[in-house]
Amino acid sequence: MMIRKVAFPSFFLLFFLSCSRNIPSTIPETVPVTNIDIETVKLTHLEFPGSESTLDNFSYLSSINLLLPCPDVTLPDQSNLLPNAARQYRNGIHRGIDFQADYGTPVLSVMDGIVIRSDHSFQEVTPLFRQSLLKKAAQIGRTPFDVFDNILLGRSVFIDHGTDLVPGKRLLSIYAHLSEIDSVIQVGREVKTGQILGLAGNSGTSDGTKGNKAGAHLHFELIIQDAEGERYMGQGLEFQELNILLNSIFVQKIEGTKQL
Ligand SMILES: [Zn+2]
Repeated sequence: MMIRKVAFPSFFLLFFLSCSRNIPSTIPETVPVTNIDIETVKLTHLEFPGSESTLDNFSYLSSINLLLPCPDVTLPDQSNLLPNAARQYRNGIHRGIDFQADYGTPVLSVMDGIVIRSDHSFQEVTPLFRQSLLKKAAQIGRTPFDVFDNILLGRSVFIDHGTDLVPGKRLLSIYAHLSEIDSVIQVGREVKTGQILGLAGNSGTSDGTKGNKAGAHLHFELIIQDAEGERYMGQGLEFQELNILLNSIFVQKIEGTKQL
């Protein structure tokens, strides 16, 4: 702890705060952030070391509509459930939206796409093993990508929405902590907007490793990739901007598609 404090003097923190919306590329990726109020600083590139630090207002998403992924479950409006929230238990930042869906709620594809990951053979790890990985995250001051992808997301489905919706960008949606995945959701198969991918659950969470049904929700992400790197929808936006973006993108029903 002492080493971290010495390595991150207050003048550097002030400098960092003054340019938190436009991080110069000269700041090393390895700046220790554990002792900083992550929510205030809005360090937006912890999860994606390859990301460009240029601002993104996501205006290119304005022509896109995403179906709300759980029937009758609205967009959350608490910042803790939205992108950019601190996730101190894993020393990271939330990349997605936590839809407050009960255990067993159907989870639908938000757009047409192709299945790129479908964890039919997902096995929950033990609580002790999960804790040991979170301890390592604390030791290095960030969430290791492999721990995030393979353990913390739980039973997940990834859908590739291709590069045609936004020229030069690939869109990928992630549905995590599922309790079940529909048998037709296999890698390489096409899915339609509103198609059931699986059921909400708590896999990958602390409760999931304990074998109970508490804390169920759908963790959803939209990842945007281009030549500069990749980022999550809403990355780095202030709370109000984020709310406007999400409310303009998500819809309850998309005309011409089958929905529950
Ligand atoms: Zn989440």
